[in-house]
Amino acid sequence: MRVSTAFSRLLRLKGVWVKAVRFDPDRVLVEVALRRRRLVCPECAFSTPHRHNVREAQSVWRHLDLGVWRLEIRATLRRLSCPTHGVRTEGVPFARAGSGFTRDFEALVAWLASKTDKSTICRLVRINWRTVGRIIERVSKDELDPDRLEELFDIGIDEVSWRKQHRYLTLICDHQRRRVVWGIEGAGEKAADEFFGELGSERSAELRAISMDMGPGYAKSARKHAPQATICIDSYHVVALATKALDEVRRDYWNQLRSLGDQQAARRFKDARWALLKNPANLTAKQAVTYRKLKRAGGEVWRAYTLKEALRAIFAPGLDLEDVTVLIDRFISRATRSHLEPFLRLAQTITKHREGILAAIRLGITQGRTEALNNKVRLITRRAYGFHTANAALALVLLTCGPITLTLPHELHLHP
Ligand SMILES: [Zn+2]
Repeated sequence: MRVSTAFSRLLRLKGVWVKAVRFDPDRVLVEVALRRRRLVCPECAFSTPHRHNVREAQSVWRHLDLGVWRLEIRATLRRLSCPTHGVRTEGVPFARAGSGFTRDFEALVAWLASKTDKSTICRLVRINWRTVGRIIERVSKDELDPDRLEELFDIGIDEVSWRKQHRYLTLICDHQRRRVVWGIEGAGEKAADEFFGELGSERSAELRAISMDMGPGYAKSARKHAPQATICIDSYHVVALATKALDEVRRDYWNQLRSLGDQQAARRFKDARWALLKNPANLTAKQAVTYRKLKRAGGEVWRAYTLKEALRAIFAPGLDLEDVTVLIDRFISRATRSHLEPFLRLAQTITKHREGILAAIRLGITQGRTEALNNKVRLITRRAYGFHTANAALALVLLTCGPITLTLPHELHLHP
């Protein structure tokens, strides 16, 4: 068998034949030529038998490694004039427009990005994290289910920070299918308006419930574009507010102790932060000791803690609407009588959003479901911190939590 024939079989590149193979000290170079005569626009389906001019372009793509060898595909391409996209270098079937990597290589990177961390990927495939970002942007644009905005009935809208300095992504999740279906850079009313704009009035009119936080932005947009939908408050936002209130009580108490000169007690309450903020079931042994000490000492920090835990328990699975209604009202009156300023404010906020909190329970938008997806998204966006664009961060979220099936190269080529 000739070397070029062997490489044709080996590489399985669509629509080309191998002209020559060369071994350089650090890589294998494979020169290929397109089988088709017609020129195809890299961006659309337009094709033509006519070249734009005689100029040719030398293009290079990185392909899957061959053993320890880095593998490069080279081709001489012609230029065409597309009525929509202007004068362009012709497209190739084995790589996406504008990419320096083959589709197989990009499929591998996208699959890895959805499974593992930055340093593993960069070391394994020998590209930097920003390049990973650009690859997954292309893959997610290409591979996301085009019907993902169809048949949406219960959705959630929430923001997540993808970088330090308050850079946000607004994400839309489909509660029924438990996946993220849409996202955009930014937060608040404007981001939500963009979503409803893309969804269109017909599909917006089909929405039954929209869950969100207690801020004014998303609610305003939802009332404007989908007035028939019930606004629900995601219970993890309610619990998060209680955790914040508890932290305020702890901090006030700590400052009091410090100003009274009780340094030892002050230190104890500073250390107590995590023991108080974590769920009791997740405490480490050391935190559990601190926790028991706090319990014995009683006082306002402990009172605040029991209030927070009582609120968290309301949203545990298994309670029906009637139970939750009674417990929410009981919590409001306990918090109002607590003489703890942050909990007084919390009681007022909950009273204001009582309807929406109960609507979430009534319509089955429960803590467990939304919180699991939310936690997954938060974990992913932390990994996206090194990306330079919001779109790359968004692509990582959609690859991992969205309607997309990632296929590895050998799975794609299973049936030649
Ligand atoms: Zn075109």
